[in-house]
Amino acid sequence: MMTLIIGPMKCAKSAELILRAEPHRIAGKKVTYIKPKRDVRTDTIASRLGLEAEAESLSELRAAPLSDVYAVDEVHMFDEFAAQTVREWLTAGAEVILAGLNTDHAGRLMPTVAKLIELSPEVLINKQAVCEVCGGNATHTQVTDQTGAVVPKSMSPEVPDDGTYRYAAVCRRCFR
Ligand SMILES: [Zn+2]
Repeated sequence: MMTLIIGPMKCAKSAELILRAEPHRIAGKKVTYIKPKRDVRTDTIASRLGLEAEAESLSELRAAPLSDVYAVDEVHMFDEFAAQTVREWLTAGAEVILAGLNTDHAGRLMPTVAKLIELSPEVLINKQAVCEVCGGNATHTQVTDQTGAVVPKSMSPEVPDDGTYRYAAVCRRCFR
């Protein structure tokens, strides 16, 4: 079965991923947590809620060890071939749980997430955060540079998550 968890920054996607994968591990199944190698943070999947899971840092999903359950965080950072690997995992009968950003800095659906939605996940969870500007219901991720200037919409969706830019959860009215 395929579960896809999407939403803006700071909507507890990683916590949702861990909460959905852990029961399988407790039941004795082989659960592999995966995160993109391009994500320069640690080798664990860590939620702001305090939940943490050791993860394989991979540059492509097909490098993952054979598992009963694949739990992938920041899935939008993998290239579009990720969806092909997910399809193969599902065909082989694996449980697949994926979490990632819904849209990019320009409000466009992340290309890899679009491919994953085409696989028609049995469970599609669209989470929201709290708008960091007005406190409303945050649906989007605002990307700004260190001076607070909005990143141009013409920039590729692959905005680096290396500390150069700031990411904020915002509602659709505050999204610029
Ligand atoms: Zn707002």
